Amino acid sequence: MSQLCTMIDPKTVQFLPGGIYIHIPFCKQACTYCNFHFVTSLRHKSALLGALDAEIALRAHEWRHHPIQTIYLGGGTPSMLEPKDLDNLFKTLEKHISFANVLEVTIEANPDDMSLENLQFWQNETPINRLSIGVQSFYDSHLVAMNRAHSASESRVCIERAQNAGFTNMSLDLIYGMPDCSDTEWQSNLDMAMGQLAIPHISCYALTVEPNTPLAKSINRKKNPTAWDDIAARHMDMLEAAAQTRGYDWYEVSNLSKPGHESRHNTAYWQGHPYWGLGPAAHSFDGERTRSWQVANNAQYIKSIESGILPAESELLSDSELYNELIMTGLRSKFGVDIPKTIARFGPDITRDIDTVLKRYLSSGSIVVAGDRMYLTHAGRRMADAIAAAFFDVK
Ligand code: SF4
Repeated sequence: MSQLCTMIDPKTVQFLPGGIYIHIPFCKQACTYCNFHFVTSLRHKSALLGALDAEIALRAHEWRHHPIQTIYLGGGTPSMLEPKDLDNLFKTLEKHISFANVLEVTIEANPDDMSLENLQFWQNETPINRLSIGVQSFYDSHLVAMNRAHSASESRVCIERAQNAGFTNMSLDLIYGMPDCSDTEWQSNLDMAMGQLAIPHISCYALTVEPNTPLAKSINRKKNPTAWDDIAARHMDMLEAAAQTRGYDWYEVSNLSKPGHESRHNTAYWQGHPYWGLGPAAHSFDGERTRSWQVANNAQYIKSIESGILPAESELLSDSELYNELIMTGLRSKFGVDIPKTIARFGPDITRDIDTVLKRYLSSGSIVVAGDRMYLTHAGRRMADAIAAAFFDVK
């Protein structure tokens, strides 16, 4: 029996640029609304960082043909890492990534970790060139309700400290729609972030109640009011107005930026580029149709990596799932969805409802069409996920 061997010369193939995400699963304390994977004990920190080093070496072949353009340290709270830990992590990355292609290196930082010493180290001794700061609110009463580990004044001071240390590329996380956040307080949070502090990128998330969080348990015990959809809608209107007045581009439902300050890392996710998630609970996507995720348990992650086995499960996305994903990410972003290209790629069976659903949302003013693409309007952004779901292929 003859066997055909098809060797592809990597030099002749254009490989999509990709990103690396590294999950650091440690936090000082548990915020009430959070359902990310983290622990509040540092007991396994050095074993986990050792396993991360090993995982980088173990998986380097997966991205060897792709120019890595972005690195994102998320969590958890990566800003809790000591300078020697970060130094070691970047030394390992430098062995397995060509930094010549890297354009953006982000660290998620909480205000209480942004000491002058840490900021100077990040700025001068590491490739970090972007800070994503978990401020959430400039009111102490909100921070206490969320069980955040920092105060409002710490946020203001640390941002000015970061600016003085030379960081110009910064993002702030703010949470809106909290029942105890008045419209005046929300407006003041926006004025502080966009006006006084002139932060070029803002990520705004409506407070959602995730299962098994302290917030969900408290609601179940009826300690918190639940009807905050109206508040969230009002806060979103105020956000829209502030973004327009202050020249921010609303480039994704939860993300606004001044021109040139969009998150390259997240934009690549939304455009379907490949990414490799390292560390416990991290997710990866190969840019085609394979998605994988690692075990959300530090001890199991360490044990498995120490035995040379990736603690990951994976799935092959069907055409239908890829289509749903494209609709969701396209509609949520300012790039919209190219209608004829989508129909040509996925075929009439999967895309059969596009015209009908489009007509419905065009007439309600939630979607506009310009050229070949459809986009959400401001009214549409308020219910982005529900509109995307109306286009989904569900058989
Ligand atoms: S600091 Fe971030 S990851 Fe940690 S508990 Fe709070 S929200 Fe979650």
